[in-house]
Amino acid sequence: MNIALVAHDGRKQELLDWIKYNYQKLSKHNLYATGTTGKKIEEIYIGVPISGYWDEHEWCYDFKDVEFPFKNKINKLLSGPLGGDAQIGAMIAEGKIDCLIFFCDNLIIQGHQNDIQGLSRLASLYNIAFATNRTTADMIMTSPLFDNDNYHRIIPSVIESYKNRILN
Ligand code: PGA
Repeated sequence: MNIALVAHDGRKQELLDWIKYNYQKLSKHNLYATGTTGKKIEEIYIGVPISGYWDEHEWCYDFKDVEFPFKNKINKLLSGPLGGDAQIGAMIAEGKIDCLIFFCDNLIIQGHQNDIQGLSRLASLYNIAFATNRTTADMIMTSPLFDNDNYHRIIPSVIESYKNRILN
């Protein structure tokens, strides 16, 4: 699958945490990201517990840093505000993206708000798997349809109808 990953600055850490949790599944797919999100993903390392001990009332772990398996493997597009969201939108319309994980900052209006709305509209129109929060992203990753070669996304018939509409 071709999976696009985008997070606004206020939610980049949340996306990175989600990616660390799902890196094994994600590493089997082609990943695309807007510029800064992609750079941050390449920079992260996964902490793997090497030992654990009970201290007072909680477990403590010693972590070993493991290099993140996506290093230099993310297809980085332009930064979102500089056209990256629009690039992903165009890829969706061309059938080149199957899944979009898009953690938007819902508390502020972005300079590229129109591009964000355009991207969300195209993800919905072309019926791709589309998550804007972690719960939905988790459900997509754990669905039996994810990774299932026999599942084919239906392209909504309205698209063909619109292409063939009759103009007077
Ligand atoms: P960025 O873009 O990954 O380049 O920060 C994200 C966005 O705002 O769409």
